[in-house]
Order: sequence, then structure tokens, then C-alpha cells
Amino acid sequence: MTSSCRFHPERSAVVHCEKFEYGYCQECVDSCRACTDPELYCRHRTACVIWELCRREVKKRRRAACADATACEGGKDAASAGNVSSAPSAP
Ligand SMILES: [Zn+2]
Repeated sequence: MTSSCRFHPERSAVVHCEKFEYGYCQECVDSCRACTDPELYCRHRTACVIWELCRREVKKRRRAACADATACEGGKDAASAGNVSSAPSAP
């Protein structure tokens, strides 16, 4: 079964989120928009190609955020800056 990208309906999805059943195109994977909540626990994570690709980007972002923040241990707020994950979603 083929699905289309959640953000780019004209494109076909290259990955598929098992948790939320969304499809995402390559560009969305590259820009790490593919995982709805990379920081959140996902039971599909061990088999999730999105997470596998995305966690590197998340780590990179977190490191960049830590470079700016004085206290990054225990401060989770820095990592979520600019990451708006409250997009309205239809069922
Ligand atoms: Zn896309």
C-alpha cells in the first residue's frame, strides 16, 4: 500500500510512522520533520526507520542547543526551542 507524505500530499511517502500512521517523503526525513515526537517514547522505535534516521539529527540539534545554553544537564527546554509539535492533526 502506498501512502503520501503528511506534509507534501503530492509526493509519495518513503517512510511510514507506525505509531501515528503517517507517511513522509525523503525531504521530511532529511529535515527531521518525519517523527512527530522524537523525544517521546515510541514502542515502534527499535524498528522505526524514521527514528533511526532522525535521532542523529535530534542529537545534533541538542548538542547545538547545549552549546548555547549554560546548563544543559537537566535542562530539556533548550532542545525543544523552535520545535513546534502541536500541529493540529485530523484522525
Ligand atoms: Zn514531505
